[in-house]
Amino acid sequence: TERARGALVAINEELTQRVREVQALQEALRQQATQDPLTGLFNRRHLNDTLPQLHALARRAGAPLALVIIDLDHFKQVNDQHGHAAGDRLLAAFGEMLAAESRRSDVACRYGGEEFCLLMPRTDAAAARRKAQALLRRWRAMRFEHGGTALAGLSFSAGAADTDLAPGSPDQLLKAADDALLAAKRAGRGRIETAGE
Ligand code: GH3
Ligand code: MG
Ligand code: MG
Repeated sequence: TERARGALVAINEELTQRVREVQALQEALRQQATQDPLTGLFNRRHLNDTLPQLHALARRAGAPLALVIIDLDHFKQVNDQHGHAAGDRLLAAFGEMLAAESRRSDVACRYGGEEFCLLMPRTDAAAARRKAQALLRRWRAMRFEHGGTALAGLSFSAGAADTDLAPGSPDQLLKAADDALLAAKRAGRGRIETAGE
């Protein structure tokens, strides 16, 4: 019986260890499913899950939800002139800046490629635009060294919208910000436009 008890303790320890491994794997999977590996930001899938929730919450609370879409300017040139690795480094640096500059209640995502999306609860488009302008000033001031050459004078264009300016569905909010982004590109890049203006 002493031996049987010893065996039971060993089995119990092994089971506990296995459960820990499974929990760690689940956590890693959950992260992989919602995180963009290059920038560490949330991915588009997480945005698609979160936007309807924050949209519904904003309605209930009677407070606006702002959405900003950011697209780095002439990013293809960075890749063409400095290589894909330099492009990747810039994307990672942009993600770091976005994460550092946004509030804990904001949701910062890599929307795809060189496009990013920022969800800002309890914020209107005008405040979101000011936030994006501060980000643009910081991004313009960044300098990168890559393979002996300096990369500077970077810019982005962005479109800002909110649930007051674009009432309706989450998709309508996204579309409004996207239209404003397009307007910013057409107006010459390096600027932030607000939906409906
Ligand atoms: P615009 O000012 O009109 O936005 O010009 P652009 O060059 O930024 O836009 P375009 O859509 O022509 O090119 C986007 C580029 O972004 C092309 C693609 O190679 C690059 N890109 C997308 N994803 C990645 C990535 O993960 N890593 C790197 N290095 N480049 C990427
Ligand atoms: Mg783009
Ligand atoms: Mg671009």
